[in-house]
Amino acid sequence: MKINVQRTVAFIVLLALVPLKGQGGPVEGRLPADFGTKARQHLEALVKIGPRQAGTLNEGLAAGYFADQFKAMGVPAIIEPFAFESYEVSRIELKIGAENFTPAGLGIDPYAGGLSYSGPFVLLDPRASSSGPASADAAGKVVVTSEEGDPSLHFCIAALQPRFIIDLARTDFNRVRGLRVRELSLTIRGGLINGISRNVIAHLGSNLPAPQIIIGSHMDTFRDSPGANDNASGVAALLELARHLKDLEIPEGIGLTFIAFGAEEVGILGSRRYVERHAEELRHCTLALMFDDLGGEGPVQVERTGGRSDQPQNPGVSIIPKAYRGRAWGGLRYPWSLLPPPTLFGVLGSCFHPAWLAASIDEAVKELEFQVQLTGMQGSDQISFAQAGIATSGISAVNGRGHTQSDRPETVNIEKVRQSAETADRIIQKTWNHLMTSFPKKPIGPLSDHNPKDNLTRANLMAHIRLLASIELKGRPGQSPGIPALRIKGG
Ligand SMILES: [Zn+2]
Repeated sequence: MKINVQRTVAFIVLLALVPLKGQGGPVEGRLPADFGTKARQHLEALVKIGPRQAGTLNEGLAAGYFADQFKAMGVPAIIEPFAFESYEVSRIELKIGAENFTPAGLGIDPYAGGLSYSGPFVLLDPRASSSGPASADAAGKVVVTSEEGDPSLHFCIAALQPRFIIDLARTDFNRVRGLRVRELSLTIRGGLINGISRNVIAHLGSNLPAPQIIIGSHMDTFRDSPGANDNASGVAALLELARHLKDLEIPEGIGLTFIAFGAEEVGILGSRRYVERHAEELRHCTLALMFDDLGGEGPVQVERTGGRSDQPQNPGVSIIPKAYRGRAWGGLRYPWSLLPPPTLFGVLGSCFHPAWLAASIDEAVKELEFQVQLTGMQGSDQISFAQAGIATSGISAVNGRGHTQSDRPETVNIEKVRQSAETADRIIQKTWNHLMTSFPKKPIGPLSDHNPKDNLTRANLMAHIRLLASIELKGRPGQSPGIPALRIKGG
């Protein structure tokens, strides 16, 4: 999902940054002294495979690497393949007035069909005044805009529920504005392609029905990026954390599941599939903790705030519409991004930090000898778990090179990777403590379907989108000020 929507969500890492320094007396780190060296070895081995885009042979090789590494350290692991679909655009014909244009991007729902259009369009300039670029007129219409590489704008415009979004380079957008023509014809040609991706799942400690903690990280890359920080750093830390925890005494009656997810970058597909397949087991899952982009220069960031804090009725049951569970949200080669049905928006905004988890994170952070920032939703595979009602957190230290060719091993700060793992180690310990004091657990009743309408009102959807817009447009470092937030009608 980092292709567009997730990328947008990922920026929410900037939300509610609360610097918190260890105050409760730092406790010496428990990770072995060679943690960083070994993590770097994994990172370099992965980057050497090449870009590990969802569904490619290289992604499969990365999965093989993880399975081998887990087995070599004596942790049983399985590879769980899953099929997915993606719509691949082969040709776009766009004519506005008498001129032909090549879009910089498209927002379409290729699974809904109807990819030809001829008729009026709405010109929507994100740089227009704060009174809003005629957003109320966008519903059901074809919108021509210029997102200028800012995925949050795509997300905001998609929330207006247009029929298509046609994203033009700024110079083309200005040309269209000068044309004074407000009719276009668009034909999109392409087709569904089928891919196979994989999750690698390893397990330590007690089996079901003992409560489980999931520690996960995605192994695929965004298209042809080397993916050193995003996300070889995360999966390298995952492996070495597994080795460390294996050598510790895991309390009796608690299990740990380590998952290297495939196909995160095309719409958190690996975790979506995992949640769907393992619903019964997930009812015993206490926490799903994710690593994504660990080797940046700033402080380690831990997702702790925002989202729902109530325990849902059916933990483990996915609320993603069935028709979209195995479908990519971004094209494998062409930059289309899904214009999702309204139900998907609520899903994309999911995070779930119950009070016990927030308290556990605070306690864990106080023990660390380095600075940590607490954030709102970070937007990675934890979304799939949060929307299924499982307590989640994420750890990251982004470096701004994600999804680019410059995301190379030499730019990864391995000390930050180590600090991220140490933070996770402490949170896991605090979760163990929580589990041991909260027994006996209530018996778990039969699994029933979740009604996605339960927590999906237009009001909370719009509140979320507004929040996104304001954070994205005002709060991003390096962003020139003065781009007004889109005004979104409704809610
Ligand atoms: Zn990532």
